[in-house]
Amino acid sequence: MMGTKASRIWHPFTQHALQGVMTRIVHGDGAYLHTEDGRRIIDAISSWWVVTHGHCHPDITSAIREQAGKLNQIIFAGYTHDPAEECAAELLKVAPPGLDYVFFSDSGSTSVEVALKMALGYWKNKGCPRTRIVVMQNSYHGDTIGTMSVGARGVFNAAYTPLLFDVASVPFPARGREQATLDALEVTCRNDHPAAFIVEPLVLGAGGMLMYPAWVLREMKRICEASDVLFIADEVMTGWGRTGTLFACEQAKIVPDIGCYSKGLTGGALPLATTLCRADIFDAHYSTDRSRTFFHSSSYTANPIACAAAKANLHLWRNPDTRKRVTSLAAMQEQAVESFRADPRFENVRRTGTIAALDLKTSEAGYLANIGPKLQTFFNDRNLLLRPLGNTIYVMPPYCVTAADLDEVYIAIRDAADALA
Ligand SMILES: *Cc1c(COP(=O)(O)O)cnc(C)c1O
Repeated sequence: MMGTKASRIWHPFTQHALQGVMTRIVHGDGAYLHTEDGRRIIDAISSWWVVTHGHCHPDITSAIREQAGKLNQIIFAGYTHDPAEECAAELLKVAPPGLDYVFFSDSGSTSVEVALKMALGYWKNKGCPRTRIVVMQNSYHGDTIGTMSVGARGVFNAAYTPLLFDVASVPFPARGREQATLDALEVTCRNDHPAAFIVEPLVLGAGGMLMYPAWVLREMKRICEASDVLFIADEVMTGWGRTGTLFACEQAKIVPDIGCYSKGLTGGALPLATTLCRADIFDAHYSTDRSRTFFHSSSYTANPIACAAAKANLHLWRNPDTRKRVTSLAAMQEQAVESFRADPRFENVRRTGTIAALDLKTSEAGYLANIGPKLQTFFNDRNLLLRPLGNTIYVMPPYCVTAADLDEVYIAIRDAADALA
């Protein structure tokens, strides 16, 4: 067995036959992770995109501590509690105006499952059932059967493909080919009468940090609206400042019919998710007829400790300093990637808000390209947490990261190209 302490834990997205010794983290603070053997690692991907303000932010930590001593779990059917009520009220104040109801769950995947079920329930309860979902190619919405169905098909879900439901898809709006996406959406909305279109606004995360402009997002919303197709924005990754605004939809000045928010909802401290919807979607389920109930729950729905963490996060977003940090990180990221635009070893150098990405030119492409793990090992040896998607290297740090930390990250990326390209 690898390592001295043989572990029986099966880790996510991990090929254990190829994985070296797991890095054991004992402590996190700000943008740093500390290992048991005394190394300090810069967390340049916010621990898989969840940690927004930094590890163990004192305000969030103390909110968790306080709530844990008061009420740490309660059934959420027939019961409610202050942390959930206050968290929902605060969330609706900052969410796109026109989203009126908050449904809690516990992960990005469940928030998307809930969104899809809300959309189907809406049409069924209105007496005109629709079940088809339109998706964008290269999208990622989670790893459950339902969310895989609306996500890109590939090596990740080949074993389960026979069980995934069929969807209509439109191409990713690559630069110069945006109209093809809009045309395809218009045709499928008109001909297939889909229940909903689900999309990651501005940045497709796991699909390779693919970016498209706000005007395309705005046009897609207009098309859905014109043909009475529900528009679901999956802001699980793009929310909480990542794209430069609190939510990506703000940049397109659109309000989705249903919005999914998780990852940074608790600042990355605890698992929690929300699905927000317009009043008429709630109203379609509102009836004295119990068969119209929205039948969805998870055991830990609106867990009070997680809600307290989310409340503390929402409080941090009321502080103008938080937005200032996002703006200055976006500027630092732009400055950092600018020098790579003329570097012939890289292509598709891109940035949206605080997210920067670039593709290392290699003979082999795709997620399973061997360059991915090689890069990851290279960065790990430099005490950096970066986890390239195939040959796509992206930097998505917590907002407390310093300019010196970022320098270290980008120097290592340049060195990696020297060593491996
Ligand atoms: C991460 C992610 C999800 C899934 O969230 P989990 O909390 O991992 O279930 C869904 N949609 C998008 C866009 C994501 O980035």
